Amino acid sequence: MLDKPLLIDGTWRAPSGSRTTEVKNPATGQVIARLPVCERADLDEALAAAAKGFEIWRKTTALERCRVMLRAATLVRERAETIAQHMVREQGKPLTEARGEANAAPEHIEWHAEEARRSYGRVIPSRIPGARQIVIKEPVGPVAAFSPWNFPINQLVRKISAALAAGCSVIAKPPEETPSACIELAKAFQDAGVPDGVVNIVFGIPAEVSEYLIASPIIQKISFTGSVPVGKALAAAAASHMKRSTMELGGHAPYIVAADADIAAAAKLGVMLKFRNAGQVCASPTRFYIEDSVYDRFKDSFVAGVKALKVGGGLTEGTQMGPLANPRRLDAMEMFVEDAVAAGAKLECGGRRIGNAGFFFEPTVLSDVPEEARIMNEEPFGPLAALVRVESVDEAIKRSNRLPFGLAAFAFTRSLAVADRFACELAAGMVSINHFGIAAAETPFGGIKDSGYGSEGGAESLDAYQTVKFVSHIGA
Ligand code: NAD
Repeated sequence: MLDKPLLIDGTWRAPSGSRTTEVKNPATGQVIARLPVCERADLDEALAAAAKGFEIWRKTTALERCRVMLRAATLVRERAETIAQHMVREQGKPLTEARGEANAAPEHIEWHAEEARRSYGRVIPSRIPGARQIVIKEPVGPVAAFSPWNFPINQLVRKISAALAAGCSVIAKPPEETPSACIELAKAFQDAGVPDGVVNIVFGIPAEVSEYLIASPIIQKISFTGSVPVGKALAAAAASHMKRSTMELGGHAPYIVAADADIAAAAKLGVMLKFRNAGQVCASPTRFYIEDSVYDRFKDSFVAGVKALKVGGGLTEGTQMGPLANPRRLDAMEMFVEDAVAAGAKLECGGRRIGNAGFFFEPTVLSDVPEEARIMNEEPFGPLAALVRVESVDEAIKRSNRLPFGLAAFAFTRSLAVADRFACELAAGMVSINHFGIAAAETPFGGIKDSGYGSEGGAESLDAYQTVKFVSHIGA
């Protein structure tokens, strides 16, 4: 199935060269496939196809674009189980999480399809007698989209859906680690009737592909989800060619528990949010700032919840946390734990790899973690929680806002006044108070500061793929 992984101008085919990369099952560490990767000649063909596809798709009415996209959503829903099984095998998440992700993907397609029909411009009352002055939104042009491995289908579907809704064609480079779900997604768009050249898929050496596509005069817009350093490099490359970009980068979410919060509920949700996808989530909470008077109660409840988590292969019944996606993440987890303990933190539970087969790491809780520990400053992107005692809500907000990241923030309180302070004062693109309320198709998803710019999701989503044209017209 992976022998023809490139979709170029409506045809699935093998790359022109002979290079390949390995696809591994993170639960066993074994190579399950070899993925052929593209050469420059393939990228040239993809660029030509995207240019051709754009000319067709931009002239396709919004109603027709919407209809085709809705058909694609139906196909993804019908194929959700296959897609989920691919994600478990290649990325490692538990089957229940993979099913949830596969079933959320059509919602993103549907939301964007419907938004395509509401992409209104406006009429400006003119100061010039007899003149009509209008603002029109137009598709920006062919898009280069780069998506990561942690949510194989849902990172990609947001980018393709927004581009198609706006009338753009796209060359997407999904993650080489988790190709199969991404291929299924592209097939659904193709089977739904998206014209040849509108959706193109390439796999390659990431830096080679991004460097070449960003520099191409055909590409007009870049969308990337991944780490802050790579995002900054791609944003700089895009800027040097005066190209628009959307950057959805790493985070370091604070999780504040005020003294008046529902402690049991905050601890329970904290366990779920922290260890979902083994912590490999850009919005995953890492710094738990707990008010002094409830610190021990929260800690006991949280640690008990973490110790009860069932870790295992994603296809094993009852598994709540799977392996990490690759061995690099295991090395990083060991480094964070050793560094925090050396800095004076207490290891409450976990802290070690599990076995030698696959990339499993224990769900880990560190308490009384000093601010200078690396985990308090660098995104762990894994199953590590750092608990910190704070004297007040003021201190929690101040420490939450200390880092250059600003993606998600979570906070718990029963006071309306304190909740309002969290909403207004936390420096993050998304603030969720007393529950988990982010990442739905109809809500904006994105960060501030080093976490990037632009929204994927919500009514804002299409803006990033459109240009504004002003027309002033007077009868001859
Ligand atoms: P990484 O920085 O090597 O890669 C992250 C992603 O970017 C991968 O999908 C990779 O294929 C891609 N990439 C890397 N270099 C690229 C380039 N020059 N051009 C285009 N794409 C490129 O990190 P990793 O070890 O794979 O993942 C861990 C880190 O990545 C984490 O620390 C986390 O911050 C970040 N990450 C973030 C998200 C997110 O949702 N924002 C998702 C996955 C990874």
